Amino acid sequence: MVLIIDGHHFQYEMENLCRVFFPDEQINVLTGSCGNEKNSLIITTSLLKQGVQEKIRVSIKEPLGKLRFRETELNLPSDSDDVELSMAVELFHLLFEYTGYRPLWGVLTGVRPSKLMNTLLASYGEQKALEYFENKLLVSKEKTDLALRVANAQRDIISMSDPMSFSLYVSIPFCPTRCSYCSFVSHSITSDKAKKLLPQYLNLLCKEIACTAKIANHIGLKLETVYVGGGTPSILDNDQIKKLLYVIGKEFNLDNIREFTFEAGRPDTINAEKLRTIKGHKVSRISINPQTFSDDLLRAIGREHTSQQIIDAYKLAKNIGFANINMDIIAGMPGDNFENFKNTISKTLELAPQGITVHSLALKRSSGILNHQFSFEQQSVLASKMIEHSNKALSKNGYTSYYMYRQNKTVGHLENVGWCKTGFEGYYNIYMMEECHTVLAVGAGAVTKLKSPAGAQIQRIFNLKYPYEYINRFDEIIDRKEKIYEFYSS
Ligand code: SF4
Repeated sequence: MVLIIDGHHFQYEMENLCRVFFPDEQINVLTGSCGNEKNSLIITTSLLKQGVQEKIRVSIKEPLGKLRFRETELNLPSDSDDVELSMAVELFHLLFEYTGYRPLWGVLTGVRPSKLMNTLLASYGEQKALEYFENKLLVSKEKTDLALRVANAQRDIISMSDPMSFSLYVSIPFCPTRCSYCSFVSHSITSDKAKKLLPQYLNLLCKEIACTAKIANHIGLKLETVYVGGGTPSILDNDQIKKLLYVIGKEFNLDNIREFTFEAGRPDTINAEKLRTIKGHKVSRISINPQTFSDDLLRAIGREHTSQQIIDAYKLAKNIGFANINMDIIAGMPGDNFENFKNTISKTLELAPQGITVHSLALKRSSGILNHQFSFEQQSVLASKMIEHSNKALSKNGYTSYYMYRQNKTVGHLENVGWCKTGFEGYYNIYMMEECHTVLAVGAGAVTKLKSPAGAQIQRIFNLKYPYEYINRFDEIIDRKEKIYEFYSS
């Protein structure tokens, strides 16, 4: 399909909105007043001037079909953010009329609905915030309520973060095998090349941790949470885990931190020795991620473990003394069905972990699932039913939703929601997703996000993406750390 951007600069938002309605289509964006693509569906978004009057016009035309359009006159300065919103609303109505599909998140395409809700609540109070979501952004009541619940659950935790707080993220981008839906930069450790990279990678990672700690201490930053993620950090052997956690503990003061998470995502990477090592180094929270309890599906998505191994790993971790365990599951996976998913929820609830994170499958180009093997529409309907079921079952079993985010190209344009028992909110998840404070991130693919102590300014520093680049160009990684000093001294 063709999207024409005419007389305005709202391409990003218009394109995102078109993707919500036409997830399977390739969108060819043209700038100007006309397109000659005779065989394509053409959507035109225009900001038109007629004398002093300005108006928004959006239209859609099928090849050989009739033109449908909507127009509205503007009483706003054309550089106002409201013009972009007005155009998005017109486009939303037009595409809803054309497709019959009404997205539950309205024109809200951003990844952080709860952050927006938090901002609106602080500025205008609950009533106006809710009205803005439902009436201006056209968000459904159900999703508005979700954003409100999450914002309310976060309030006290957000207030604990002070302007000089920060979190540390440590990236281990290696996994035992690659899951078919994975869109992360994670290396399967089955290849000899990846196996050889790991020790070198770990040595340099420890150097980066030391360098980062020196900078944080020099600036006077206060560490709140640590998150070792990936990938699958528990892919490291026991000595490697010891080394990593020893270095973190040596370089940073962990005495007063609020949370230390270690992702032990795949049960086939976990054993008692590793769990004891992790427990012995002040880790307070781990994640063991079933994704599903269907053995057939686990095999189909490329995970070489059984559902029984998940249960065994969970029980082992509990016996070793972990009192805060999170489990991730995914709704909308290809090959899954409603009964399987219901069973996954029941099995997870039987284990009664402190946290359950329910993801909606995101289909990114880098994932191994080919789009033509997969009906986005069918899977979206199924995923919505699954999410609805999980919401009910988790609420009924005493879990509350405490953090959420959205990704592009999730089935049904659904969200990912973290649920927990009271008092077991994942602090790092909230601080990172709500952009409350700086996250200093180390390792390949990690992105440091600096948050100004005095305001809302955010600056990102990107580490090199792949482990081999990280190893070969490590000096560049260290050089980029200068930007942290520059940011805090400006
Ligand atoms: S465990 Fe996670 S990071 Fe690793 S391959 Fe699977 S989805 Fe990707």
